[in-house]
Amino acid sequence: MKPDTHSGNRGLDLEEPLLFELGRDGRTGVDLPEPPKVASRLGGLERADTIGLPGVSEPEVVRHFVRISRNNYSIDANLYPLGSCTMKHNPRLNEKMARLPGFGDVHPLQPESTVQGALELIHTLGTWLKKITGLPAIAMPPAAGAHGELCGMMAIRAAHDAKGDKNRHRVLIPESAHGTNPATAAQCGFEVDPVPGNERGRIDIAAVKAKLGPDVAGIMLTNPNTLGLFENDVIEVANAIHSVGGYFYADGANFNAIVGKARPGDMGVDAIHINLHKTFSTPHGGGGPGSGPVAFSAALAPYAPLPMVVEQAGGRFHLVEHRGNKGEPGEHSFGRLRTFNGQMGMFVRALSYMMSHGSDGLRQVAEDAVLSANYIMASLAGDMTSPFEGPCMHEALFDDRFLEGTGVTTLDFAKAMIDEGYHPMTVYFPLVVHGAMLTEPTETESKQSIDRFIGVLRHLARKAKAGDAEFFKNSPKYSPRRRVDETGAARNPVLRWQPTAPRAQAAE
Ligand SMILES: *Cc1c(COP(=O)(O)O)cnc(C)c1O
Repeated sequence: MKPDTHSGNRGLDLEEPLLFELGRDGRTGVDLPEPPKVASRLGGLERADTIGLPGVSEPEVVRHFVRISRNNYSIDANLYPLGSCTMKHNPRLNEKMARLPGFGDVHPLQPESTVQGALELIHTLGTWLKKITGLPAIAMPPAAGAHGELCGMMAIRAAHDAKGDKNRHRVLIPESAHGTNPATAAQCGFEVDPVPGNERGRIDIAAVKAKLGPDVAGIMLTNPNTLGLFENDVIEVANAIHSVGGYFYADGANFNAIVGKARPGDMGVDAIHINLHKTFSTPHGGGGPGSGPVAFSAALAPYAPLPMVVEQAGGRFHLVEHRGNKGEPGEHSFGRLRTFNGQMGMFVRALSYMMSHGSDGLRQVAEDAVLSANYIMASLAGDMTSPFEGPCMHEALFDDRFLEGTGVTTLDFAKAMIDEGYHPMTVYFPLVVHGAMLTEPTETESKQSIDRFIGVLRHLARKAKAGDAEFFKNSPKYSPRRRVDETGAARNPVLRWQPTAPRAQAAE
């Protein structure tokens, strides 16, 4: 619904067309001299018509991107409660460090002797990640959490192959897992065997044991899990999987909740990815960039991917890019995982975050993140419903039982939050909880900020129960677009702009 202003704008909320609709042929932001005439060597294959790129002046292009950027919700604008994503404040100090010319301008093809500082930074970050996970090896290349999962599962496959163990085709994955877990296992050619949870929201250890056998390659378990709960039986799970020769892959996306407090290595983990862009700040959302280093146990360490940074005599650092000879680093590596060495900018930001917090500060990150989530859960106990009893870790999970009989759905509730100035929490995930609303405040919100958020949720919960379903069905009212057909957009995406009139006519 358009606002009833002549311009289509709503106050400072400016309506903006696509760049292609804005552009005019022949308009440009730079004034270059006419190129001299050259004889074509393309043998008649040169383009005859215009290239069709939008022609815009510099102020037009600046305004265009500033206007659309103002439609973005960001962690710099308000609390970003998206569960499972750990949308925490990104300290500006990290940005300053990442922009130091020695890091910001470094090129991955520079000779090794000229990038010793950058290699040392990767090595130092890796050392700290090993220390806080309690594991002996680290792979820095993975570019995201999902990529880290791929890395870990490829190492598990390589370890079984090295033993000549070709019959391990099954991977156990809890039903509450993030979708990337089964997707990764399937991508690596494994068969996904789902494990149910128990009434406490944890993995059913009896079900795990019942599924064990010589064809089990391993288990992928998230801890704390996606329901925001600590898997108390984690050591029993590790022992069980090891007893049949399988490996324990841990999804470490929720490391934020235990960093500095507990070490995955002590829980019997063989491989774990750490989302640097979640636990150790660094900007994310909108598709990246992320960084998902994987820590390995001694059993999987030999199969870690390339490239890897090794420290040499005399304090020099070397990037191992090819499988080495016998006894050299990388001899048994499963191979190269990606181009170059990893997400350098994210490495700098993450190390900067870790160093500025120190070990006591990192411990406090976990404590405050868990406290914030429990504060939300406890404050809303009378107004909203939670599927599981007891305190949570870093995420507060609600279900839709409190909306029963109101005619309001989880989606309606989420849409009403937009008018109140909040990005909705993660909804309908985890799939095992009906009408799930997963809220992760993180440690960086003040009590006042969390109180304001709680106030909004309480207000909306009471409004729903008071029978105002119509209000919710009509939400949001104040956003640039109201309800969009999300399913239609996903099923029939229109990815190509078509000019409404031939360009020659459109141009004056
Ligand atoms: C975020 C997340 C992932 C995937 O991480 P990406 O960096 O988005 O690829 C995997 N598992 C869980 C539990 C997550 O929260």
